[in-house]
Amino acid sequence: MAALYSSALLRSCGAGGVKAFAFSRGSSRALASAKFAPRLHFQSRRRSFCVKATSSEEDAAKAAAAVADTGAPTIFDKIIAKEIPSTIVYEDEKVLAFRDITPQAPVHVLVIPKLRDGLTQLGKAEEKHSEILGRLLYAAKVVAEKEGILDGFRVVINSGPSACQSVYHLHLHVLGGRQMKWPPG
Ligand code: AMP
Repeated sequence: MAALYSSALLRSCGAGGVKAFAFSRGSSRALASAKFAPRLHFQSRRRSFCVKATSSEEDAAKAAAAVADTGAPTIFDKIIAKEIPSTIVYEDEKVLAFRDITPQAPVHVLVIPKLRDGLTQLGKAEEKHSEILGRLLYAAKVVAEKEGILDGFRVVINSGPSACQSVYHLHLHVLGGRQMKWPPG
C-alpha cells in the first residue's frame, strides 16, 4: 500500500502558487492533499477516498482563477447559506468546517471563514485578516481533535492556480486517518 500511496503523490502544477502545510506533532513529514497523479481509490475504516487526476485538476484550477477576483460567489457561499447540503463537522460564528466532497484521505475536512472579506486565497491576505487566519488554524486543530486524528494530521492551503486552487474562498484542508508521505507533488 505504501508504494501505491507514493505513486499517487506526484503532482505537477507548475510554479508560482503557494502551498501551505502545517504538521501536527507526532506526524511524519508526509504528503498533503492528494491532487496528485492518477486517480486511485482507497478504502479505509472511515470512508472511501480517491486521488484525483492532475490534468483535469489543473484545467479546473485555471478556470476558477479566471473569475477569482470578480466577487462572484463560490460553491462555498451556498454551503455557508445551507442552500446545498454538506456534512458539517464544526461551526461557530466565524468558521465553518465540513467534509470535502472528494476526500483525499479517510479524514478530509475543509475549514473556511464564513465571511470571505477578500480572502479568496491566502495570497490575498492582509494584516486585517490576522485574527480570522488564527481562528481558522485553531479550528483546524479542533476538527482534528473531533475526528480523532490529533496523533498526526496535515493542514493544506492551496493558493492560486499554480497550486491548483479550485475554489476561491480561502479554505484549509484538514487531512488525516492514514500515513502521510513526503514530499508532496
Ligand atoms: P482547492 O482545490 O484547494 O481549492 O480545494 C477545493 C476543495 O473543495 C476540493 O477538495 C473539492 O473537493 C472541495 N469541494 C468542492 N465542492 C464541494 C462541495 N460541494 N462540498 C464539499 N467540498 C467541495
